[in-house]
Amino acid sequence: MISRALFPLLQCPTCRSRALYVSDDGVHCAGCGTCYPFRDGYVDLMPRGARYDYVSKYVTDEAELAEELDYRELAPPLLAAGVRDRALRRLLRFQPGDVVLDNGCGTAKHAVWNADRVRLMVGSDPATLFADRAVAEVALARADSRSLPFADGSFDKAFAIDILEHFPLAVIDQYLAETARVLRPGGRMLAFSNTREASPIQPLIDLSRRLGRLFVRAGLYDFSREARRKSDHVKALERWDDVLAAFERAGLRPVRVVFWNSLFTTFVEHVLMKLGEAALGRVKRGASAARGPAQEAAVPDRGDLLPAASQPPGSAAGVAREIRARRRIRRQLRPGSPVYLALLAVTLLMELDLWLFGWMRCGSYFIVVEKAD
Ligand SMILES: [Zn+2]
Repeated sequence: MISRALFPLLQCPTCRSRALYVSDDGVHCAGCGTCYPFRDGYVDLMPRGARYDYVSKYVTDEAELAEELDYRELAPPLLAAGVRDRALRRLLRFQPGDVVLDNGCGTAKHAVWNADRVRLMVGSDPATLFADRAVAEVALARADSRSLPFADGSFDKAFAIDILEHFPLAVIDQYLAETARVLRPGGRMLAFSNTREASPIQPLIDLSRRLGRLFVRAGLYDFSREARRKSDHVKALERWDDVLAAFERAGLRPVRVVFWNSLFTTFVEHVLMKLGEAALGRVKRGASAARGPAQEAAVPDRGDLLPAASQPPGSAAGVAREIRARRRIRRQLRPGSPVYLALLAVTLLMELDLWLFGWMRCGSYFIVVEKAD
């Protein structure tokens, strides 16, 4: 949404002037004369005339990704997203008076799930694949994290979930420096990302992967959608020391670290849930005509549980089946419903990884850092 509470925080992302005024059609800079227009539910605060070498896949392929990412309708915070969200809440400890930035918010799901816990939740992203609920409930800005449209010290807290692994090193440095700039002294940031470090219990974790591969070979499911989501992972911070050094360069001091050795998580993601999706994603023959129009019709009616030979390998059918399964599940996800409670139990099983193995250094990490006073 376009929130009036956002305006006092703004600074021109092009010339850094704070002399801004608001009219019916947008925010205007008196310094450089740029108009930042109001769009459908967000303010377009991208810097003008900036040339960047790196542009996110989510910006260049936005239209193409829109359908595949299935981003508009949000599920409740369950499974891996639920583990992230619960850790975010526990580690960053939102207070009712907080002004918080979800920097690189994507759909802004974490902003939506936590908006009512704080005074102002702001989501910013250069791509505008915002969920419908985010457009309705969160102050949204289209912005570049290398030149944020916010004044120094505007935020009590910030978070970056699944962001840093996408960026080359120079962009990470700019991203962290800008995040530090807009945090108040003593303000905190949480990042969830991953390095290339293996887990000490990797051989155990790989048992689930191997089991998963057997099912893939049997044509039961595939991982093409996951692979595509991760296709632009750079992991420029290769080792844990690189992570600590990057935050230190930005003047951000670590206060808390939890690693995610994904023993239960990998079993859930590679075996349990994929089997569930394969079963739920089957096309119910003759049922699709009776179903509501837009939702299911958007997904091609293929990808039945066919024998391996007739299943297109690594295919659009797999993606379609997965989206169909997720939509079917989502319709039954009212909090308190049996499906919801079952998935919550699975979420807590995945979270057990953090409680049991959070102290063991590995690739996936949550880190809380603080800006010096
Ligand atoms: Zn300006």
